[in-house]
Amino acid sequence: MLEIPRVDPRAGLRCETSSAATASAEPPRPGSFEVLAQEGDARAGRLWTAHGPIDTPCFMPVGTYGAVKGLDPDDLREVGSQIILGNSYHLGHRPGSARVAGLGGLHRMIGWDRPILTDSGGFQVFSLRGLQKIDDGGVDYQTHFDGSRHRMTPESVLRTQAALGSDICMILDHCPPGDASPALMRVAVERSTRWARQACDLRPQILAPSQLCFGIVQGGTDLALRREHLAELATLPFDGLALGGLSVGEPIPQMHATLAEIAPLMPPERPRYVMGIGTPYDLLAAVRSGVDMFDCVMPSRHARNGQLFTFAGRLNIRQSRFRDDPSPPDPDCRCRACRLHSRAYLRHLHEQNDPLYGRLATIHNLYFFHQWVGALRAALRAGHFAATDALFSSIITDFYLTKPEPVSKRPRAPTLAATPG
Ligand SMILES: [Zn+2]
Repeated sequence: MLEIPRVDPRAGLRCETSSAATASAEPPRPGSFEVLAQEGDARAGRLWTAHGPIDTPCFMPVGTYGAVKGLDPDDLREVGSQIILGNSYHLGHRPGSARVAGLGGLHRMIGWDRPILTDSGGFQVFSLRGLQKIDDGGVDYQTHFDGSRHRMTPESVLRTQAALGSDICMILDHCPPGDASPALMRVAVERSTRWARQACDLRPQILAPSQLCFGIVQGGTDLALRREHLAELATLPFDGLALGGLSVGEPIPQMHATLAEIAPLMPPERPRYVMGIGTPYDLLAAVRSGVDMFDCVMPSRHARNGQLFTFAGRLNIRQSRFRDDPSPPDPDCRCRACRLHSRAYLRHLHEQNDPLYGRLATIHNLYFFHQWVGALRAALRAGHFAATDALFSSIITDFYLTKPEPVSKRPRAPTLAATPG
């Protein structure tokens, strides 16, 4: 039977980092990034922020409104989350960035003392089909909250994130739909480059010196356009670079090919982030291509839909065969849900629409994702990622690639009705 090296995401991370932190009197300055191990394009590293280090490769849970649905900070620490995501579009309107600042910033408001990355909100605004109008200076839009009209610019998204107190701020970029024409892709890239330059000019006046700022490379699956945009952004003083506009409906092999081609070209001395992916198999492909950071709503959204990730495949807890099953969701998992509860109980809670189901299922799925990425990180640090790669692939391919979900079911740009997180 195939086995992968198991990593308990609750242990180790902070031990490794705390010893690094206490080794010197002063922790490295925010933005410091060190590659600790590399095999091929894949690498393990450590990024420092004002709220401590992030060991990479790293999966980042999504807490759009300032909460990973149903989980409190203790839950997040227990499952092994090093950093969480918030969204400036949502938080900027509800409860409002000024209100968050008045409450002491996002960290204090939500009781989370580890790093927070916030997206600019541009992706959400561009998804407001029919409710937004873009020009070279920014985007006019109507919110999906109450229809009120606003304007988002390269400056406004930095001001929102400054008020939130984010550790890592994302710039405004033009994210076209996955099926956009080549002409629109080029317009989006050129506009995104101009906005990136504006963000770099404005940053010293708006963001605190301890807040990091990442640029975003667009270009869809047009590799030449991606290379061109990457070359432009690599010359700008961003602390890290992200790949945006992936997993927006393009075929999976095409997305992986784009990762494999573009990620290794990103500046090696800075962290690399792929936005909005993905499945456990996507994460493996991204790590193999040299990506350091990822985020996705998949663990929490699938949990709420009854889908539990295990190393023996995905389990649909709604199925009636689990009604009398006393075994834990995953017998090998050490998360709280699996240590304390049975499949039968989780199914019962799901049937009753009890909020406890969503919390336990999300705890399990996030634990799985952190364990998976932790195993890849551990293999890299131990110097046997390449040797284990085939094993990793076979495990994940068996359960997550040979029976892929239809593209239409994969995570896509959010719609007005979509519930984030
Ligand atoms: Zn579990």
